[in-house]
Amino acid sequence: MRRPLALMLMGHLIYLINAVLLQWGVSLNLFHPGVAWTTPLMVVGPGVFYALARSGWSRRFKDPAMVMAQGLYCALLTVLVYTFSRPEVRGFILCILPLIIMFGQFTMNGRQFAFFTGCTMSVLSAAVLLLRPYDDTPRGLSGDILELVYVALILGTATSIALIGSNIRQKLVASRVDLAEALSRVHALATTDELTGLANRRHVQDLLAEEVKRHRRLGQPLCVALLDLDHFKRINDLHGHQAGDDALRHFARTAREALREIDVLARWGGEEFLLMMPSTTPEQALTGLERLRQRLAQHPHPPSLPGLVITCSAGVALHQVPATIEQTIDWADKALYRAKAEGRDRVCLAGDTLSSAPAGANPVH
Ligand code: GH3
Ligand code: MG
Ligand code: MG
Repeated sequence: MRRPLALMLMGHLIYLINAVLLQWGVSLNLFHPGVAWTTPLMVVGPGVFYALARSGWSRRFKDPAMVMAQGLYCALLTVLVYTFSRPEVRGFILCILPLIIMFGQFTMNGRQFAFFTGCTMSVLSAAVLLLRPYDDTPRGLSGDILELVYVALILGTATSIALIGSNIRQKLVASRVDLAEALSRVHALATTDELTGLANRRHVQDLLAEEVKRHRRLGQPLCVALLDLDHFKRINDLHGHQAGDDALRHFARTAREALREIDVLARWGGEEFLLMMPSTTPEQALTGLERLRQRLAQHPHPPSLPGLVITCSAGVALHQVPATIEQTIDWADKALYRAKAEGRDRVCLAGDTLSSAPAGANPVH
């Protein structure tokens, strides 16, 4: 709505300049002094349109800028001024009409342009016929007809050009929408794991890099966990690869339901997942992962394989300076290895990383 309002203000300016020019014309005896009656109409009318648009009242219409109504108002006013003009200068006034079409090119379609041109030509023809008895210049009725034909030709041409412009604009808008959709599809493909719908490895690496910067700046604890499905190879071997894929999808869905909004679960590779937990102490991370493990225990079967029980093991580490995030992931991996070695279906914390631990090294026990 900002552009239509700016256009309306530009229209106001043209009205005001017109009012001043008309007064000049009156002083040159080119217009009947009665034309001064149109000045309030040039101020009040556009002001009312602006107020209706600005207040939001006109949003109920398909065209909130009321371009057609404004165009007809301006055309009527132009014809009114025309009736106050001396025959020698009537042509000046008609220059305004194609200008209205230029303002309409952003919103009006072919049918609306035809309606506008039809209304304008009808009112103008009536005015020309009404003025005929008072016109003592040599132009005569033929001159009137010639003038009307000229106006029709100019309005018709201006409409055609405006329609070509609006077609090009519509195509540009459509291609911009297509491009935005294609970009968001490409972004989704580049950041999402196709099988599970989770973030993919590359995307979570980017998110981790961002989170590490925030961690360094704000000092909030950051935990990273690696999760691995237990005996997954057996699922593939016994039930087939398709069943394995179903199990991965089921795990992703169940895990997501148990996690907080700000935690990011990503497919790290194969049947391994990385969980990024911002603003999380190791105690909170353990609680969250335990909740995840228990949720999986409550819903261990993928819908397509009711006989199958899925469990997972997890290793979690606290990210601490001066370690790099790669080292932290490595500690989480070692903790995961320990969870596997201790019997699977459990969560292990990397080394002495409870929040009471001093910052620095992060060894694995
Ligand atoms: P552990 O409890 O020690 O983790 O045992 P595991 O069988 O899960 O461990 P391992 O790493 O030996 O096997 C992982 C298997 O996961 C190997 C591979 O066939 C399977 N796998 C990896 N990616 C996919 C996948 O996208 N779909 C399916 N169906 N299977 C996968
Ligand atoms: Mg496994
Ligand atoms: Mg594995």
